[in-house]
Amino acid sequence: MYARELVRPITELKGVGPRLAESFHRMEVFTWFDLISHLPRTYEDRQARKPFSSGYDGTPVLTVMEVIAHQYIRYRKGRALKVIVRDATGPAALLCFGRNFLQNILIPGKQFYFYGRGSVNYGELQFSSFETAPWTADEPPPPEFSHILPVYPLAGSLTQKIVRRAVAQLLRSSVRYLEDELPRYLADAHGLIAKRDALRLVHFPKSQEDIERSRRTLAFEELFYLHLIIRRRALKRSRLRRNPRSYSTALQKEMIKQLPFTLTSGQIRSLQEITSDLGRERPMARLIQGDVGSGKTLVALLASLPVIEAGRQAAFMVPTELLAKQHAVSSADHFESMGIRIALLHGGLKQSERQLLLASLKQGDIDMVIGTHALFSQDVEFKDLALVIIDEQHRFGVMQRNALHHKGEVPDMLLMTATPIPRTLAMTVFGDLDVSTIDTMPPGRKPVITHLASEASRSRVYQAVRSEFERGHQAYFVYPRIEQKEGSKLRDAESMFSYLSNEVFPGITGGLIHSQLPLETKESVMDAFRKGAVVYLAATSVIEVGVDVPNATCMVIEHAERFGLSALHQLRGRVGRGSGQAYAFLIYSQELTDSGKQRLQVMKQTSDGFVIAEEDMKIRGPGDLTGIQQSGFLRLSFSDLVEHLDILKETLSAVQTILSEDPGLLTPAHQVFLNVLEKAPPFQEELIDS
Ligand code: ADP
Ligand code: MG
Repeated sequence: MYARELVRPITELKGVGPRLAESFHRMEVFTWFDLISHLPRTYEDRQARKPFSSGYDGTPVLTVMEVIAHQYIRYRKGRALKVIVRDATGPAALLCFGRNFLQNILIPGKQFYFYGRGSVNYGELQFSSFETAPWTADEPPPPEFSHILPVYPLAGSLTQKIVRRAVAQLLRSSVRYLEDELPRYLADAHGLIAKRDALRLVHFPKSQEDIERSRRTLAFEELFYLHLIIRRRALKRSRLRRNPRSYSTALQKEMIKQLPFTLTSGQIRSLQEITSDLGRERPMARLIQGDVGSGKTLVALLASLPVIEAGRQAAFMVPTELLAKQHAVSSADHFESMGIRIALLHGGLKQSERQLLLASLKQGDIDMVIGTHALFSQDVEFKDLALVIIDEQHRFGVMQRNALHHKGEVPDMLLMTATPIPRTLAMTVFGDLDVSTIDTMPPGRKPVITHLASEASRSRVYQAVRSEFERGHQAYFVYPRIEQKEGSKLRDAESMFSYLSNEVFPGITGGLIHSQLPLETKESVMDAFRKGAVVYLAATSVIEVGVDVPNATCMVIEHAERFGLSALHQLRGRVGRGSGQAYAFLIYSQELTDSGKQRLQVMKQTSDGFVIAEEDMKIRGPGDLTGIQQSGFLRLSFSDLVEHLDILKETLSAVQTILSEDPGLLTPAHQVFLNVLEKAPPFQEELIDS
């Protein structure tokens, strides 16, 4: 099924020319495989006849009708054909706007299969869109009038008919490549059908049961391989060995003593877990999971000290340059007095500066380098990279993580995330990592008070922010867009910045910040904000990640309904970092849906990232998971982590059983798996070998 043959472009299907291909591409359907995994959004059951008499309440009609007469009604500058028809239960009218040619097809006295959804006007059942086909007594009805039909997501010039035909053609020509990839005993034990049948039936089912069984089979296989890959990786990793090193924690202890506060119990525990992993024979692959503001960054910095004390190097990778800069500043505060040499590698460096930095890194004159993915450019070499720290890890693909991983001689790896993964999914998403959780907040933090406000009460929000300004505090204003876009009613950071500074807060200095500004501009705005010279920021969600200004007490988010809950949670985490009471104002537009309101209510009710993640999962449902699917971490074709939670558990335990019964990883007895994995990976390559 994942055979090479299926990597052919869809233009190699009959009837798919450049124009249709372009429409398919818009839905990310490029290859035969993409098309086969372009699953129906829903199905239309056209098995049972539904006569005209049952169509008055909007139920789709499926019947055999007889054409009675032609009439014409005024339409635009001319006239439109109106065909009077009837079936055994009564009459109906077909309005053929722009389709007068039907007068030559729907000829009075003839009989046709009919499908359509009607509406009632002056007591008359009318159809303006419908499908017909000639009826003959001695032939079976065509599939459009007798089968369950797939209903696909569409784009551009695609129609259901075109996609159905393309898929049917593809299934015919590729069925020989489709092989079962699960061994029989597993398929039997879990009630799965053959892969070939599953793919045929998921597109063209004969019954509701077909739909369920085919979907289940496809999801099972996919999740089974996902878990197999992850668990194998975990096993492999657990067997990785290198020369152990013993580290001193003298420097670490010294820095902890110098901190103006004491570590929380969660921080202490995590730091101990990490420190005892460092330098072991088995390389560390550990994730620190902790809510925004729980002090993960500090833990990571402390964790790097034993490595640095031993004269080795650490690399600290963050998703944005802004954050890199901020980490460089704050770690310099902590580190420089101890003689630790920190460098910031960013895209804005001049060629000569960059060369100099790279040379020092290679010579070992730099202890810790901080940067974005620029850190894994080809030309970045280390003298002795011993620890890789990756902040906000969900922002990076596994591929990127690895690139850095390979720069040292199996360095220790420390990942951090503030995107809480629902517990039910942790084994899947982080299955190959050890996890430390910081479940405590630094003392004295008061929960952020969250208000939901409609657009109409925006001025009251401004009033509240103004009184915070009077207390010497600062604020963020976040918008979903950078600049105005024609035809869009969304507020944007640029126009709102000028509105705020001219109309709302004249005399108070604000700053504008978004991803498209040059780095120097962003830096100087952030600097000024950190120092308090800039009192508020009008921003996009660039500030979502990691920005730390304790004096900022207000977070105003416009069009809050357009942000995912976990993004809102991250944004809200930017305030409430100091000792003052902090506020979040979530401004929503008037046309909020019920589920939209429900989501925002969750933000008001809790500040626990795990609860928010679970709620997000429940409310937003399939296909829209916090930070996981969003970030492209998992690209699944047939399964959905929410919808198929049961299958997720089933496959995990099946995989665990196989791997534990077979401690030699997958021996020849399981060659079937290996073949599939090695020759034709079912997932993005990046997921395979970490
Ligand atoms: P995270 O990365 O988890 O979002 P940070 O490491 O940025 O959190 O920490 C947030 C703020 O809290 C920083 O200003 C940091 O100096 C401070 N902080 C960290 N640990 C403590 C602690 N134990 N007590 C008080 N403040 C702390
Ligand atoms: Mg952080």
